[in-house]
Amino acid sequence: MKIKSAEFITSNTDVSRCPSEPIPEYAFIGRSNVGKSSLINMLTERKHLAKISGRPGKTQLINHFKINNNWYLVDLPGYGYAKVSKKDKKEFQALIQKYFTKRQQLISAFVLIDIRHNPQPIDLDFMAWLVGKEIPFCIVFTKADKLKPKAREHQVENYLQAMLEEGWQAAPPYFITSSSHRLGREELLAYIDSVNEAFRQSRPNG
Ligand code: GDP
Repeated sequence: MKIKSAEFITSNTDVSRCPSEPIPEYAFIGRSNVGKSSLINMLTERKHLAKISGRPGKTQLINHFKINNNWYLVDLPGYGYAKVSKKDKKEFQALIQKYFTKRQQLISAFVLIDIRHNPQPIDLDFMAWLVGKEIPFCIVFTKADKLKPKAREHQVENYLQAMLEEGWQAAPPYFITSSSHRLGREELLAYIDSVNEAFRQSRPNG
């Protein structure tokens, strides 16, 4: 997919105020510092579309970006930032739960995982919650340049294996990316393109 346009549309805390257009939407989420902003900028070829590590854990906003006038890329707040108060954590959970359960345009979530990390309860619990709500998602392994190719493969295999051992019935689809090396960009965008196409064909007048 060629990115012809990438526009910031809105930031808000209330899912009812998100854009109402019925176009496919993909939500990016992960722990603070996982590389989400860098990934969004790499995918869209815009240096500053998403803000890189401003104040981690502080911006609890749903950010909508319209891509190619055709689909929404949504930047959700990062989770798991240690210095967040209990009140902020509760607000975050309410915001995220409302977003995922109410947002009808949502096609798929992309859950970002730093490729160097072993499975952590915070990520696994979140993915299990998505499964429970029947929300499709893919894992996006980030910062792949931090490992050599062999170690990368090994780490991903171990991650998915650990999920199966934890009782997951199947490993989710996944992508291996590096924002600094533009790795995984074509694959991820081609995936979104193919899902958008299937979405359009499934509509009565698509
Ligand atoms: P966010 O908090 O999830 O939005 O993460 P950021 O995109 O702000 O990135 C957090 C830190 O990781 C920053 O210092 C980035 O420069 C760094 N980073 C992000 N992506 C990559 C990557 O693909 N490779 C490397 N080496 N560093 C990255």
